[in-house]
Amino acid sequence: MVDLRRTELTVRAERAILVQIYSKRNEELARASLEELRALAGNAHAIVVGELAQPRLRPDPHTYVGKGKVAELGGLCRELDADIVICDDDLKPSQVRKLEETLDTKVVDRSEVILDIFAQHARTHQARLQVELAQLEYAFPRLKKMWTHLDRLAGGTVGGLGGIGVRGPGEKQLEVDRRLVERRIQDLKEELGQVENRRRIEAADRTKKFSTVSIVGYTNAGKSTLMNALTDAGVSVRDRLFETLDTRTRRWALPDGRGVMLSDTVGFIRKLPHHLVASFHATLEEARTADVLLHVADAASPTAEAQIAAVEGVLKDVGCTPDQYVLVLNKVDVIEDDARLLLLRRKAEHAVCVSALTGQGLDQLAALVQQFLDHLAAEVTIEMSVGNGKLISLLYEKGVVLDRVFLDGVARFKVKVPQQMVGSIKSLGGRIRQS
Ligand code: GDP
Ligand code: MG
Repeated sequence: MVDLRRTELTVRAERAILVQIYSKRNEELARASLEELRALAGNAHAIVVGELAQPRLRPDPHTYVGKGKVAELGGLCRELDADIVICDDDLKPSQVRKLEETLDTKVVDRSEVILDIFAQHARTHQARLQVELAQLEYAFPRLKKMWTHLDRLAGGTVGGLGGIGVRGPGEKQLEVDRRLVERRIQDLKEELGQVENRRRIEAADRTKKFSTVSIVGYTNAGKSTLMNALTDAGVSVRDRLFETLDTRTRRWALPDGRGVMLSDTVGFIRKLPHHLVASFHATLEEARTADVLLHVADAASPTAEAQIAAVEGVLKDVGCTPDQYVLVLNKVDVIEDDARLLLLRRKAEHAVCVSALTGQGLDQLAALVQQFLDHLAAEVTIEMSVGNGKLISLLYEKGVVLDRVFLDGVARFKVKVPQQMVGSIKSLGGRIRQS
């Protein structure tokens, strides 16, 4: 059987050269993209030994960079003893083949590196299924091309394709492989569907009891640091991309005594392979159903605007409007230019400046979240038996208790509670009197 998880075998501890083509009109974005690729490569445990960038309007159809640059790249590979070339854009299988032949070095693209990192960081069953599916879907059309190519070689030895582990399988084997892969993709989709359903039910269960706040944002924006600062959750914070692959949820006690569930989600990234976007739909969906959405942005990044726009684009895709989230401009401790901050602030309907590191602005953030929840909340008077401890503790946990009277075995609470909780109050034996 062909090993489809090619990148898992390839990127580790290898000497890498990064290659990029870019538009002269947008050099800053190109620089940021290359910087991110550098971080990605490092995260995949490659050692970046060289970089090559070429200004070009569009990639060369055969070799990504132009002919002259390929020759230069070949020289660089030998000189720096490189094991792998990583291109900043997605490559066609024919481009990979041509480059590998010419350079006599392994060639991968940005998507493969990202898939490799996701594979390394997948922790839960669901995350692992999602990653395997994304890898198979990414690799399948490429392998199909390769198989066709192999068919023509009729079982000869294949050179220049190191790491894939295919050495001239017979035609029969190719047919078997193809069907196995298709079946595996089908199975994965089914299993994932079941897991996602289960998670949705669990998430719905949670929302009944608690208000929910979700953190979304670009990778490295400081989501995990903020989560820690607010909850002491002990979510691992590292200067590494993709640290947070799975949604993590912790209780956050707001200053007014209410408890909310705070979730940290997967980070956004430039040019995310579309298979992964599809695979992580469930995570985004969960974020969307939150009562309050916090969009955390690294305000100190020179490309903050582009990052904010990228995340907002995705939020819009999953049906979030700007009035539904708070833009949290993070890392203000390292910002000297107040004017710039003001400019970023104006971009959002609701914005707050914080430093997750120093704690600056976290009070304002909490106050803003409380306001958001207040808007959702209804003020009601509820009567129940004084012995109904379950309901009483729920009211304290989830609502704001304004007044309470105990009389003849009946407890009467005046509280502010989120609208969607009214149903569970009734089912726990509370009688609602509008006030
Ligand atoms: P995530 O990918 O969004 O979860 O980002 P992390 O929380 O892992 O943080 C990424 C990096 O930014 C880490 O090195 C943090 O220490 C750093 N960081 C996070 N918040 C702040 C902040 O408010 N100020 C400064 N200076 N650095 C921060
Ligand atoms: Mg994180």
